[in-house]
Amino acid sequence: MLFLLATQKNIQLTNYKTGLDYAKTQDQNDTLAYYRNQFHIPKDKEGNDWLYFTGNSLGLQPKSTQNYIQQELNDWANLGVEGHFEAKNPWMPYHEFLTESMAKIVGAKPIEVVVMNTLTTNLHLLMVSFYQPTKTKYKIVIESDAFPSDRYAVQTQLDFHGFDANEGLIEWKPREGEELLNIEDLETILDQQGDEIALLLIGGVNYYTGQYLDIKRIAELGHAKNCMVGIDLAHGVGNIQPELHNSGVDFAAWCTYKYLNSGPGSLGGLFVHEKHAHNKDLKRFAGWWSHNKDTRFNMRQPLDVTPGAEGWQLSNPPILSMAAIKASLDMFNEVGMEALRKKSEQLTGYFEFLINELNNDKIKIITPTDPKQRGCQLSIQVKDADKSLHHKLTKANIITDWREPDVIRCAPVPLYNSFEDVFRMVEKLKEIL
Ligand SMILES: *Cc1c(COP(=O)(O)O)cnc(C)c1O
Repeated sequence: MLFLLATQKNIQLTNYKTGLDYAKTQDQNDTLAYYRNQFHIPKDKEGNDWLYFTGNSLGLQPKSTQNYIQQELNDWANLGVEGHFEAKNPWMPYHEFLTESMAKIVGAKPIEVVVMNTLTTNLHLLMVSFYQPTKTKYKIVIESDAFPSDRYAVQTQLDFHGFDANEGLIEWKPREGEELLNIEDLETILDQQGDEIALLLIGGVNYYTGQYLDIKRIAELGHAKNCMVGIDLAHGVGNIQPELHNSGVDFAAWCTYKYLNSGPGSLGGLFVHEKHAHNKDLKRFAGWWSHNKDTRFNMRQPLDVTPGAEGWQLSNPPILSMAAIKASLDMFNEVGMEALRKKSEQLTGYFEFLINELNNDKIKIITPTDPKQRGCQLSIQVKDADKSLHHKLTKANIITDWREPDVIRCAPVPLYNSFEDVFRMVEKLKEIL
């Protein structure tokens, strides 16, 4: 109890301090500190842990993942095709074992969520349903700094429907001389061109700036003009609490290999709001896994679409990849997003504090200072796009990533990064600068 009180006190503590002792004390008081040891942390030749700040790109491997995958390999070896029903975790309904935890992480109802395919594939499948342009209402709004894959996806959707991919694409841009998006500018776009806009597809947390946008407000603005609203949560899932159901967005998609630590190229997740769950008239590309589970194996049946997000599935899914996702989700379930988010705000706040203490005009944080408008990532803009800073960090086994034109992205991940990691990283940064 005393420990709990002490922890809660720490959470409210915003007067961070410099010095290694402070970082160590924070780690000692961190109730989630235990989880760091549940991950494989890459090491240098001397056996020291790398300072890994790229969980926003590829999350580290939980030590439990191997056992989860081994279980499925064993069941496959011992049971062959019977594993679909006889495996410890039967493969037929395997995706269902992931649904509840995944729904909790994004703030959705189980009927709204499914794990399947990969992110860009899911964006396309969702646009088949939710991008239904007419001759006059066909434009798509994205952020000017949208991830390239999202941009290519919407451009090729426009083209597929016979529209000019440049003319049909509206970019929501930061104002002159600014880096972040302003919701008022989206409002203006919708006021002026809402009648021509069919879809908004926006990154909930921008991959470049780390800005966490007000998803609910975006949904309200889009819906007021009869636009469909979709959110890319690649940088949001496992990082912030997007409350997808309450936000009212029509659909969302994400990957699981970033903050959800499910391994390179692992499957993605998809959300379709409950209000669309039973609409069988929605256009879609279907496969046998879209079909009603009760009659799926009767074969010669006309398509009877499963209600909810599961109705967007096509194929029977890769169990080995899902086993890695299950390993991760079981851990997230145990920790809970609430506790994770609390530590995250502290850890990133501390990181920001130390960088500001450097008081160096070669670097500037472009991520919002308000914790409610960001996740764990800080994007550090480097003056004159000097890439050598990033090279020197990497050489010192501090893993961050460089994004053109001039940003180093660093994500202290609350599940496995420590206050000491952050302290050592900024000490090195100071040395290099
Ligand atoms: C990581 C990321 C992707 C990657 O898409 P895949 O289909 O998983 O390769 C796409 N969009 C955004 C916004 C991302 O952050």
